[in-house]
Amino acid sequence: MVLIMFGAPGVGKGSQAAVLSGTFQIPHISTGGIFRENVANETTLGKIAKSYMDRGALVPDEITIDIIMGRVLQNDCRNGFILDGFPRTLFQAKHLDELLAEHSFPVNAIINITLEDELIISRLSGRRVCPSCNLVYHLEHNKPSRAERCDRCNGTLIQRADDTETTIRKRLEIYHDQTKSLLAYYRTVHPVFDIESQSEISETTKHIFEALEIPVS
Ligand code: AMP
Repeated sequence: MVLIMFGAPGVGKGSQAAVLSGTFQIPHISTGGIFRENVANETTLGKIAKSYMDRGALVPDEITIDIIMGRVLQNDCRNGFILDGFPRTLFQAKHLDELLAEHSFPVNAIINITLEDELIISRLSGRRVCPSCNLVYHLEHNKPSRAERCDRCNGTLIQRADDTETTIRKRLEIYHDQTKSLLAYYRTVHPVFDIESQSEISETTKHIFEALEIPVS
């Protein structure tokens, strides 16, 4: 099974991908996550990626495609995987489709999560993340029990470098200019499910499960 989480930054693709990954027992692959890990480890890839990420720009297609191609052919992906944040350009989408066809992977669904830009800005500017276990919080809507500390692993919460208002606006601009148009392509080749992002993560999950016809327990 291959699922592609689609939507602007901040709609909750990552949170939903994590739930679906647990449900279907297939890996959650986030290109942003892979880049952030490389930035943290100060690898050559991380240094290149950081120069784009910090200003809200896309990392060049050639680099991003190479990473995904290597990742989805690993053994743990043989029963499928969930893509989060990839593809973001038509070039990436077409390369992905070629690779999937070559390895006989069906694309089961594109889950297109939607939310108004102003709500995204408010969500992302209040977002805090735990760099150790990746749990996500919000300063108003989903506070940790102790200020700036992760409830799960006690890590010190941080604000992502690209979660400042100027960079968020830039990322949204890129989404509207380069990524959103992919939907028109996808609607002609794969099943696309449009899901409105809800304020509660579990509510959005419920809508996704209904669309995918997974019994809600
Ligand atoms: P995300 O965590 O998905 O919001 O991604 C964070 C940043 O990583 C993006 O703003 C881009 O700079 C970079 N990135 C993630 N995925 C891609 C992609 N598919 N193509 C190009 N850049 C990407």
